[in-house]
Amino acid sequence: MIEKRQFYINGQWADPQDGTDHHVIDPSTEDPCAVISLGGQADTDAAVAAAKTAFPAWMATPPEERIAAVERLLEAYNARTEDLAQAMSREMGAPIDMARSSQAGAGSWHLKNFIRAAKGFAFDQPLGDHAPNDRIIYEAVGVTALITPWNWPMNQITLKVGAAAVAGCTMVLKPSEESPLSAMIFAEIVDAAGFPPGVFNLINGDGAGVGSQLSGHPDVDMVSFTGSTRAGRLISINAADTLKRVHLELGGKGANILFADADEKAVKRGVLHMMNNTGQSCNAPSRMLVQREIYDRTVEEAAAIAQKVEVGPASAEGRHIGPVVNQTQYDKIQALIEKGIEEGARLVAGGPGRPEGFNRGFFVRPTVFADVTNDMTIAREEIFGPVLSILPFETEEEAVQIANDTPYGLTNYVQTQDGARANRLARQLRSGMVEMNGTSRAAGSPFGGMKQSGNGREGGVWGIEDFLEVKAVSGWTPE
Ligand code: NAD
Repeated sequence: MIEKRQFYINGQWADPQDGTDHHVIDPSTEDPCAVISLGGQADTDAAVAAAKTAFPAWMATPPEERIAAVERLLEAYNARTEDLAQAMSREMGAPIDMARSSQAGAGSWHLKNFIRAAKGFAFDQPLGDHAPNDRIIYEAVGVTALITPWNWPMNQITLKVGAAAVAGCTMVLKPSEESPLSAMIFAEIVDAAGFPPGVFNLINGDGAGVGSQLSGHPDVDMVSFTGSTRAGRLISINAADTLKRVHLELGGKGANILFADADEKAVKRGVLHMMNNTGQSCNAPSRMLVQREIYDRTVEEAAAIAQKVEVGPASAEGRHIGPVVNQTQYDKIQALIEKGIEEGARLVAGGPGRPEGFNRGFFVRPTVFADVTNDMTIAREEIFGPVLSILPFETEEEAVQIANDTPYGLTNYVQTQDGARANRLARQLRSGMVEMNGTSRAAGSPFGGMKQSGNGREGGVWGIEDFLEVKAVSGWTPE
């Protein structure tokens, strides 16, 4: 069994001062695969102190040098993608091929995009031609706590670390206790990239411990958090006393609106997108809204596609989906499937229990419900599993009304060949992102939500700006 109890503080691996042992469970087997340590207050204080000490020099380092450090980080990251993929596959259950391509691949993509965005970013600029003596300086926010989830471990870590680093912030990363192994490899990567000591620190811990100690810490200037709306709320409350900046990337309940003129691949695309990463994505298109004319055949097609989705262990190669992350998530998903049946939704694929052939591992049957109404629990709660809800609609207005009738506002999807209608909907849907006809967002596009899906944006220029303060200087002597 892997034993990795140390934390990365001030450029060195250090034993915990106040640690408790924690087993990392392999969700494909339910067996422990590693022991880590969950830190305590003394460890949090040591990591924050290192970040605080390193801050003035890192903030004053010219942006070109910080960008060069992120370029070295990208190079070191690319040299370790196989190790990262293996670690993620084991700790959170992503099938190995998908862990290599999407999970590990996402990190390279984000770091590359930050380098490009930072190179074009004016950290220091005049207010405008009308005011030559006014200068706008973008300055690092300070010491940041980066709290990340287990569902897309490297995606989330690189979105935060890449942006904080080019902005000139110092960092304490607390990865999810479900996915600490890939995060510790990432710390080795930062070390190999030669970041100055204290700029990046990592401590493991849980939400109630290190997570809360960071969000309430007087020397932490900003928390950047990705995870559940529940934890986002607790972090905001705990951060209020010190009035630190809180950036939140939370859950979602995306609508995927299929009009009668949707292209022929739209149903398949929607179902497979829902099942990707075993449904554990905040931007999953979990409510498929289908226009009445094509409703019956769409339900049939969606059920047939879901029935063909294979489930298998994370270590196996291939295009199957893996288990969900842990027993808690497994139980929560099972309870929501039961609730869907109880509240009268029509089960057309999957259902309760493990798929045939499995009696161990947190494997869930790819499930589709039809005749869902938007007031049912499965249409309102983020299930975070491979469970799709299909709802009928008659008119464009009704589709928009159902799509927006949710506390969340992360990503919505539109499938129609009528460009004017698609654009109209893009303006009316209350979400941080709208994806039309399967066209994914381009490099550097901002990711983030409205309403209870959070605030702030990650990725590209917007992601960097989230880690910057804006300083207005008057009486500037033009240089
Ligand atoms: P979580 O929010 O509890 O955990 C995410 C991270 O936050 C972890 O690092 C955790 O240790 C930390 N954390 C938890 N409570 C905290 C607190 N009070 N203060 C500071 N940090 C805290 O998520 P989870 O329990 O791992 O998953 C449960 C649900 O969260 C899922 O069903 C899903 O709905 C949602 N989720 C969403 C995303 C997303 O990308 N939006 C990611 C993961 C989980």
